Amino acid sequence: MISEEEARRRILEAVSPLDQRAVSVSSALDCFAAQDYFARLPLPAFDNSAMDGYAVVASSCNKGGRLRVIGEQPAGPDRKLRVGGGEAVRIFTGAPLPQGVDAILMQEDVTPEAGDFVRRRGCDLAEGQMILSRGERIRSATVALLSSQGFADVIVGSKATAAVISTGDELVKPGEELQPGQIYDSNSALLSALLQRCRVSAIAVEHCRDDRESLGDAIKRGIKNYVLIISGGVSVGEHDLVKEALRKLGADIEIWRVAIKPGKPFLFGNIGECFVFGLPGNPVSAFVTFLQFVRPAVLRMMGAKDLDLPQVPAKLAVDLTNDGDRPHYIRGKLEHGRFTPIGRQESHALFGLSQANALLRVAVGQSFKADEIVDVQIWD
Ligand code: AMP
Ligand code: MG
Repeated sequence: MISEEEARRRILEAVSPLDQRAVSVSSALDCFAAQDYFARLPLPAFDNSAMDGYAVVASSCNKGGRLRVIGEQPAGPDRKLRVGGGEAVRIFTGAPLPQGVDAILMQEDVTPEAGDFVRRRGCDLAEGQMILSRGERIRSATVALLSSQGFADVIVGSKATAAVISTGDELVKPGEELQPGQIYDSNSALLSALLQRCRVSAIAVEHCRDDRESLGDAIKRGIKNYVLIISGGVSVGEHDLVKEALRKLGADIEIWRVAIKPGKPFLFGNIGECFVFGLPGNPVSAFVTFLQFVRPAVLRMMGAKDLDLPQVPAKLAVDLTNDGDRPHYIRGKLEHGRFTPIGRQESHALFGLSQANALLRVAVGQSFKADEIVDVQIWD
């Protein structure tokens, strides 16, 4: 058994970013930038009006005075007008400032000050400033910013593809009828959902019985992807055939069994180019090991820089101690800055997990007191 930190280190050392590709900015949402991007243009690109009004020279506007309107400047091509004392140009939002202008006068305003309603060139963004750094996730505002800079394409990391195999003779597909002793397969849905959250594409999902031949065949199909996740069958029981099936197909098994609760039987290795993650079948174990080990690996493959789950401080609602021999991930509800453990803290307890929205890691021997501030991990 190795430590959680060691497992994570070895996994991240084994996986590397996939090839880069150019995609149109409009389809780059949620991809990770593969290079740094810098502003080609300042924003705003030229001095312009922040509203509809009159472009004036502030010092020449006196209460009761009159201005002569010498022309009109809408948003669009610069008409190269020039405004002098006692003059004004009818102007509209986003229109370039005529020469000599230092303020925009609203109809109802009589004494403008220099700078009023003027958007100066570069006040938002300077030319050459970094606008997107390598490994950063492209969000909706990023897509807009890249477009404002005239970029039609952006270089991003490739999307990882993944397959999921849920093993177990007891499993039945939702929608079908249950016989005594059978349960519905929920890990296929869980792992597909978690992969989607990591923006992994082309998720092939299949169920496989606990027999050597079916498992071997399913693995052969699964390893056509960058990532293969196998749920169940990685413990030490007679029906836990995953390790043997992987070995038979030439897998290098780099990790088996990690000091983490829940999730001890976790397995990691590779067959050729495909990275294989074996997750325990208990739903909470599958969930926790996915977030701690699979998520950072697939994010790294897709070129992400930030591999950690977001952490937020929270006030703990109860006393907590870990007397066990493995770090324990407590599932809880984070609400109004307060973290309360929720549901049965056992690896099969899916309902409790479904009510939780945060994880608290309690290290071996660690104790927390109620009202203490702790950092909890969030995922949704
Ligand atoms: P295993 O890791 O195969 O020994 O399974 C551990 C526990 O998880 C057993 O109670 C299984 O019935 C349960 N389990 C395994 N696979 C799934 C699944 N796909 N969905 C829900 N429960 C599962
Ligand atoms: Mg099983």
